Amino acid sequence: MSAAHWVEPVDVRVVAGTAEALFRGTFGGAADGVWAAPGRVNLIGEHVDYAGGLVLPFALPYVTVVAVRVRGDGILHAVSTHTDESWQGPLADVAPGHPAGWAAYVAGVVWALRRSGHLPAETGFDVAVHSTVPVGSGLSSSAALECAFALAVADLAGLPTDHAGRRPLIAASILAENEIAGASTGGMDQSVAMLARPGHAVLLDCRDGATRQVPLDFDSAGARLVVIDTNAPHRLVDGQYGNRRAAVEKACADLGVATLRDVPDPDAAVAALGSPAAARARHVLTEIRRVTEVAGLLDRGRIADIGDALNRSHASLRDDYEVSSVELDSAVDAALAAGAWGARMTGGGFGGSAIALVPADRVDAVAENVVRRAESATLPTPQFLSAEPSGSAHRL
Ligand code: ADP
Ligand code: MG
Repeated sequence: MSAAHWVEPVDVRVVAGTAEALFRGTFGGAADGVWAAPGRVNLIGEHVDYAGGLVLPFALPYVTVVAVRVRGDGILHAVSTHTDESWQGPLADVAPGHPAGWAAYVAGVVWALRRSGHLPAETGFDVAVHSTVPVGSGLSSSAALECAFALAVADLAGLPTDHAGRRPLIAASILAENEIAGASTGGMDQSVAMLARPGHAVLLDCRDGATRQVPLDFDSAGARLVVIDTNAPHRLVDGQYGNRRAAVEKACADLGVATLRDVPDPDAAVAALGSPAAARARHVLTEIRRVTEVAGLLDRGRIADIGDALNRSHASLRDDYEVSSVELDSAVDAALAAGAWGARMTGGGFGGSAIALVPADRVDAVAENVVRRAESATLPTPQFLSAEPSGSAHRL
């Protein structure tokens, strides 16, 4: 049996050193500064952000770092340790679909900040990126990249970066992802990357963007939150994500409400819908209730008691929303069989990552059982990350 592979967090100063070395090697000289933003995992509240629901993510101790220097010619030149593909071009040419590829997440931020009048046209940037957030695993490497760079741009342009100043940066990062990169996502990832506090989850109300910090101290409960990266890339590109969003919008239209959050009587609403709309709506409506339930338990320090809600969330995503996958179901079932208090898929689904709430002394047994199950079913071998609730984007 192969031992479980743990991806250990790397000190942010070490991550920054790698980004700075790439910067010097590519552009010569030093960057004006270095900024970091975290990946995230969603504790509960899945596929409800675009339904005006509640989500409860927290920031991971894995970060994306950008080393950035201003240039005066309106050109963006971006490189990353993740890929050989660099991009250089006038920021004035940035538009939906251009640039294609990863540079869209960087260029899109400038495009959005310019459009909202936050940035003068002649400002350009040299950017070097290094990250310890697994890319494409549902842990939001994309928002980490956008938010690290958005904070850099704001700092360098003299824009405010306090709590209120971060709101337009969150909005610009969301626009970059939706409009320029063309990835249809809600605003959860950018909000947590910009607003998270160590030792807390962010309860985000997606109807109005309001946030509340909820204490999340796994240690005090003798627990660990294990992230299981199934190594099956989350496959949002095949239209399933858009298909679910469309189903939710159609249900809203049929029910005559702006968002499913606004439904006055959830049971009656589900009964009024046909198949599969009823099951889709039932997931969203019950999931929003589960988020409230979990936030309430965390407020009272009852971490060990949230496992059941995590399990119900997974069943709902698997059976009603149909966004799980064989890899995610295998990871969740194996974690529970080895003693986890609760487990669920997290993120958009169809691959990506799962989480398991595990008593501290069962962590290795859980990880090993998850690997054993995956290998015996000839699924990709998962890897594991530690999920200590961490802080938000910052300048180093
Ligand atoms: P996730 O956000 O779950 O990791 P996404 O598909 O939303 O997955 O975003 C992954 C994409 O973001 C990558 O394909 C790449 O285009 C971009 N990206 C993220 N991190 C980096 C990085 N360190 N360097 C270059 N591109 C990155
Ligand atoms: Mg993403």
